[in-house]
Amino acid sequence: MSDLFSLDNVSVQFKVGRKILRAVDRVSLAIAEGETLALVGESGSGKSTLGNVVAGLQVPTEGTLAFKGRKLDRASWPVARRAIQIVFQDPFGALDPRMPVSDIIAEPLRIQGTANAAERAARAAELIEQVGLPVDALNRYPHEFSGGQRQRIAIARALAPRPQLIVADEPLSALDVSIQSQVLNLMKDLQAAHSLSYLFISHDLAVVNHLVDRIAVLYLGRLVEVGPRAELFAGPAHPYTRALLASVPRIGARRSRGRAIVGEMPSPLAPPPGCVFHPRCPLAQDICRTEVPMLAPLAARAGEAACHFRDQVA
Ligand code: SF4
Repeated sequence: MSDLFSLDNVSVQFKVGRKILRAVDRVSLAIAEGETLALVGESGSGKSTLGNVVAGLQVPTEGTLAFKGRKLDRASWPVARRAIQIVFQDPFGALDPRMPVSDIIAEPLRIQGTANAAERAARAAELIEQVGLPVDALNRYPHEFSGGQRQRIAIARALAPRPQLIVADEPLSALDVSIQSQVLNLMKDLQAAHSLSYLFISHDLAVVNHLVDRIAVLYLGRLVEVGPRAELFAGPAHPYTRALLASVPRIGARRSRGRAIVGEMPSPLAPPPGCVFHPRCPLAQDICRTEVPMLAPLAARAGEAACHFRDQVA
């Protein structure tokens, strides 16, 4: 699979008073064509900021972005943006309550100016059925729908301009558990039908286990592990990934995967020296307090981790 979207050494910094907040810190990552890549981490890990960078909603402070191998700049971003859409967490806040569903779904096409009124109406009718809602939903308003139905409408809207990549930022976390699996299954079906790639942002590893090909783990804005889903679940190489997995309940599990994570994430305004995870890491040694571990390939399996002892943990 070739790369659809790639980030090279991307950082996002914000000025907070006199201090610099590094929300994303030198992240390099690629999303392949047709792939679902999960971006996981606790609240405050920088995953939504990174998702906004990919969706073109946040300009990186440093680093480069490329779409289909072409470096993105002022001239090429507008073209790439048409191929990248975003679905947000909150299906209640994301849809304009004054617009009928038909206009909500067709709005990206109206803004792009790539379809006339009849074409927009036809596309909305086609998509409402694809997301499993009746055609008469097109004439109704967002408040007439449940959370799960609104998220279906938001997905139909994202599909309207025929994107190649959808950034889904915690798309299930506002929904009941019973509805989550329906929306997940819908996303899987749509991926096959539309040859989509997904960047699926989630704090919940149990959810991503059902959908994704690879997992990228962020901690305090840094990429600490990336690897194929099955291998990463079977043998997490970074102690932070291990701790995240320990909090995922497993049916019929005989033993725990390890200790769940303890303590609070440090402030990104004052990240710890050395390995940023060392204040919470049960395996921390002296070197961890002074030397930053770089993301490097694992010896025993596919994947990379940023830990001085990555091959001993996996
Ligand atoms: Fe823990 Fe050290 Fe690895 Fe950081 S580098 S995750 S502190 S063992």
